[in-house]
Amino acid sequence: MEKPKILLVEDERKIVDLLRLYLEREGYVVASAADGEEGLKAFTRLRPSLVILDLMLPLLDGLEVCRRIRQDSQVPILMLTAKDEETDKVIGLSIGADDYVTKPFSPRELVARVKALLRRSRLSTGNGDRELSDAGLKLIPDKRQAFKGEDEITLTALEFDLLACLMKSPGRVYTRDQLLANVWGADYVGDPRVVDVHVGNLRRKIEDDSSNPRRIRTVRDVGYKFDPQG
Ligand code: CA
Repeated sequence: MEKPKILLVEDERKIVDLLRLYLEREGYVVASAADGEEGLKAFTRLRPSLVILDLMLPLLDGLEVCRRIRQDSQVPILMLTAKDEETDKVIGLSIGADDYVTKPFSPRELVARVKALLRRSRLSTGNGDRELSDAGLKLIPDKRQAFKGEDEITLTALEFDLLACLMKSPGRVYTRDQLLANVWGADYVGDPRVVDVHVGNLRRKIEDDSSNPRRIRTVRDVGYKFDPQG
């Protein structure tokens, strides 16, 4: 199998060198770019399997790079953020990043996240799953298509998998940890709050009124469930 290609967009030389070392040791091919504009160009040229994207970048910041990549690609995006960029990292997830790691991080943890994201994106392509249809929504896993009524809606790969997981067992309550294990992968080691952010994004796309969600219900102190009556 061809080695997965990873694009690392980061302006701190030390971090680039360190991550390159760890990722190459795992058998990945690593390309890097030191500013946002260069990162976008490299993305178009290389079509990597995954992007590691620093938030604070010269010329074009990580949020803008993420937004532009998401205009035509579902590639997994892992954001690097600093501790004091709490709001930015939530914005990052809300515009389509799949996960984030806060600096300073352990390279081992980052590699584990990369592996989990790549495994997830491999599993989620054309796996012959049955069509799911409920509460006015329809998912066609083979084509990765989603419909609300007659209208096709655009979901990220992660949103698609999250919704499919919930719709497969209508009414079943999932805890955040169960959703992480099902959608992100059993060895996911990140922050369970990413589930809330991605559920929020999904609701904006699938609910009639995302402030009063009827399809994905919050079960207080537990987690979430899909309501077939929604
Ligand atoms: Ca930076």
